[in-house]
Amino acid sequence: MIKPTAVYQRKKLQQYNSWILFIKPNFKQMLWGGNRLKSDFSYEIPNDHTGECWAVSAHPNGDCQIYTIWGNSPYDGRLLSDLWQNQKELFGGLPGDQFPILLKIIDAKADLSIQVHPNDSYAGIHEDGSLGKTECWLILDCDEDAQIVVGHNARTKEELVQMIEEKRWEDLICKKSIQPGDFFQIEPGMVHAIKAGTLILEIQQSSDITYRLYDYDRNENGITRELHQSKSMDVITCPSRELSDCRELSRQHLAKGVFKEKLVRCLYYDVDRIVIKGSYVFSQQEPFTILCILKGEGMIDGISIKKGDFFILPSGYGEYALTGTLEVIKVVS
Ligand code: ZN
Repeated sequence: MIKPTAVYQRKKLQQYNSWILFIKPNFKQMLWGGNRLKSDFSYEIPNDHTGECWAVSAHPNGDCQIYTIWGNSPYDGRLLSDLWQNQKELFGGLPGDQFPILLKIIDAKADLSIQVHPNDSYAGIHEDGSLGKTECWLILDCDEDAQIVVGHNARTKEELVQMIEEKRWEDLICKKSIQPGDFFQIEPGMVHAIKAGTLILEIQQSSDITYRLYDYDRNENGITRELHQSKSMDVITCPSRELSDCRELSRQHLAKGVFKEKLVRCLYYDVDRIVIKGSYVFSQQEPFTILCILKGEGMIDGISIKKGDFFILPSGYGEYALTGTLEVIKVVS
């Protein structure tokens, strides 16, 4: 096995693919947000209604800035969208004019609206060429009695339309109890909502298209938020697709104190959870690698990393040594 220091020495060559591209998050104030992004993740948040941390994003609604640890790379201060468009070599020359992935941490102090997302073809036609949204959720923490909304009880489109028109929300939606560590894949067309008392890592296609079906008749400063019931009815799958816990139970022990678990493989992303107590050298097989530190602290190739750090290993980075006590989510496009 290669020693971490040897890997680090090689990285000092400072070629384009030897930099670790750290990402500065953006924060979003939300009606339902709280302060756990500060209390749990030590981020500087704008206020106590901060609902979302856009941790890896090149989306125009929250494009993230890049920094490197010594601050002297050609990439410092630039936006992820700029690198995607102008430094294709960092991403293995993958096609597409938009960075494909968006990663968020969501702090739901109150219920989020009940919503649904379109697929690529519907969004392409009705949302000005936007991508659709397939997303997945890893429950980081939640209250003891916390639930999510997933799926609905209408058997046909006609029944769905009728239940929506009659505002029979409790009959329509399905709720499911959750606990920390649960993982869900939310396909386009699936009715869903995050409910109060939940901290979630969300990995999704880079899209901001959400159709709000119902918002609990709430208002923000006297204004109710816009609903999109007609588009919702267009895209909701009937009958509702069964929600399977798509976590593949394939825990792979890599070394003493080190294991990897596949969470999902789909058209848009592959997600793995890696737990490390000690040290392990991984080999990058993909065009580029997104790593999220969810717990603990340690090093990557001699550089300190801690909970709340998100970074990209560019194409051709090669081997990387993770050392310490760490829980890491690896996302590959
Ligand atoms: Zn959603």
